[in-house]
Amino acid sequence: MTMNRRDFVKATGALAAVSAIGAPSIALGDGKKVVVVGGGTGGATAAKYIKMADEGIDVTIIEPNEHYYTCYMSNEVLGGHRTMDQIRQNYDGLKARGIKVVHEAATGIDADKKVVKTASGEFPYDRCVVSPGVAMLYDKIEGYSPEVADTKMPHAWKAGDQTKLLRSQLESMDDGGVVVIVSPPNPFRCPPGPYERASQIAWYLKENKPKSKVMILDSKQKFSKQGLFTQAWEKLYGFGTENALIEWLPGPDNTVVSVDSDAMSVTNDFGDEVKGAVINVIPPQSAGKIAIDAGLADDSGWCPVDKKTFESTIHKGIHVIGDASIATAMPKSGYSANSQGKVAAAAIIAMLNGDEPGVPAYVNTCYSILGKDYGISVAAVYRLSEDGSTIAGVEGSGGLTPSDAPDFALAREVQYAYSWYDNIVHDIFA
Ligand SMILES: Cc1cc2nc3c(=O)[nH]c(=O)nc-3n(C[C@H](O)[C@H](O)[C@H](O)COP(=O)(O)OP(=O)(O)OC[C@H]3O[C@@H](n4cnc5c(N)ncnc54)[C@H](O)[C@@H]3O)c2cc1C
Repeated sequence: MTMNRRDFVKATGALAAVSAIGAPSIALGDGKKVVVVGGGTGGATAAKYIKMADEGIDVTIIEPNEHYYTCYMSNEVLGGHRTMDQIRQNYDGLKARGIKVVHEAATGIDADKKVVKTASGEFPYDRCVVSPGVAMLYDKIEGYSPEVADTKMPHAWKAGDQTKLLRSQLESMDDGGVVVIVSPPNPFRCPPGPYERASQIAWYLKENKPKSKVMILDSKQKFSKQGLFTQAWEKLYGFGTENALIEWLPGPDNTVVSVDSDAMSVTNDFGDEVKGAVINVIPPQSAGKIAIDAGLADDSGWCPVDKKTFESTIHKGIHVIGDASIATAMPKSGYSANSQGKVAAAAIIAMLNGDEPGVPAYVNTCYSILGKDYGISVAAVYRLSEDGSTIAGVEGSGGLTPSDAPDFALAREVQYAYSWYDNIVHDIFA
């Protein structure tokens, strides 16, 4: 987009026309403040698209980290097919657009006074965007804690130091070890993620430690793209045979309820214990803590929103997007968060100008890379339902990789996944 709203208005002469009739506001965002809590996928997208639409709006991102490591493609780091540097993004592009980036955590949001609070001060807003991602519910698994996750049993469900730890554990593990992945109940961030992770680790083991295996202990009885995953696992990793590199044990019987980080074991409800050389515990999740603290979540632990604008149905003036929001039927994915960031940005521009927000469409695609030259995907376009209450998939849009896709098509999906990554990080951060 090369022309912003101000340029557009000027170019069409509308500015003069509006002034001539003496309107008090020229329907531009000059002086209006938007504060974005969380500079991850959803928040950074919303900030960028608000600024692109109207550079007169004062946009501030509150984000503690100076770099953002994308979770997408972090499973490739675990498989040894990408480095941490290749999933690291920074805020230079957004700053160059005039967006202020404050590297602090938000400590509170006062919806009545319309301020976001940090340790150093208060940031007033006309509209606030909240995109803090997920919180890990450590207390749902006895013996699990942030300390255990940081030192022994990483979840690596937020890319960063735990991704590095998990990778180094895989590298130092002896051949013949069992890698346990504990997969969480719905809803959670990135539904195909645990199974892509299992595939990437199996790929690494196959080439480096072939006597080892990955064991997925699931709390669910089925999972996203299951048919395509198991088909790939049979072909690549001997799934279902004695020497399988991946074993999947479904819920509810295999739901892990406790861990022992000294014994390096996990236990289900029946007291059955499984030991692992490496244990990756992905716990149950809720909306990010700041969203809960700000009273934006309901009893489900997630944040209800008006699906046309992503404005909270609990606190007006605050838009919750990304994983933290209840945006069913969209999955909790980076592409969803990016799409929702754009929908919220357009709604905010309209609302700041006293206009009625348009009826949005939304989009999502999730690629999973399961082995060498072996990728699969699921894609969908969504629309708001007639009564505005749900986001529904558009019939005939998107779809799954066909189960009879030829090898060249599966190899092409990997290349599509790589170009999707390059495009989306450019769309968000450049
Ligand atoms: C292993 C894995 C693989 C994945 N693969 C894919 C994929 O292939 N495709 C895909 O589309 N999605 C994928 N995802 C999902 C995707 O990463 C998330 O859905 C997406 O990041 C959600 O965006 P978000 O803005 O809600 O949260 P995030 O991107 O996590 O951003 C949240 C930001 O908020 C900040 N924050 C938190 N609390 C505060 C606070 N109090 N104050 C200020 N800032 C705060 C955090 O530091 C963070 O930067 C994957 C996830 C995982 C774990």
